[in-house]
Amino acid sequence: MESWNIDRNWTLFLDRDGVINRRIVGGYVTRWDEFEFLPGVPEALKILAKRFGRIIVVSNQQGIGKGLMSEADLALIHNSMLRQIEGFRGRIDLVLHSPHLKSDGSPMRKPGIGMAIEAKRVFPEIDFRRSLMAGDSESDLLFGRNAGMKTVLICDDPGTEDALDGLFDISFRDLYSFAVAIK
Ligand SMILES: [Mg+2]
Repeated sequence: MESWNIDRNWTLFLDRDGVINRRIVGGYVTRWDEFEFLPGVPEALKILAKRFGRIIVVSNQQGIGKGLMSEADLALIHNSMLRQIEGFRGRIDLVLHSPHLKSDGSPMRKPGIGMAIEAKRVFPEIDFRRSLMAGDSESDLLFGRNAGMKTVLICDDPGTEDALDGLFDISFRDLYSFAVAIK
């Protein structure tokens, strides 16, 4: 990772569930009171805000496609999330989500790279060769690889790490460990 020479020209793409907040296994975060930051995440985002020029959240949210929550419900969650992060002097420049069902096969849903292209439309200076994708699942790593980014697995389960071997450049047990490593 030292050889990557990360500076303010780099962009960090971040998955949400399982990286920023606790994932609800077999379910969805549909309300703010179900949203729980993982330990060290606000502090991590403060560190990362100084390191990266842009920080973009890219999140598959098929709970919308399934009718379990609305776009407005998700917007309320993200507004609260951003307010809390700003309170810790962290920064997220853009939050993108895909409401599509997995079965739709939409390029806007990871591992499709539609959200990466949308981020670059908003911030044309984004260079995917100077971008990292950090996530906890195969679709995150494939999204990063498909867009030509470096990939970082955020995971504290050795079994998952083995299963995803070859899809990530480096792995950390949580976002805070990653942030400290590139501080
Ligand atoms: Mg995830």
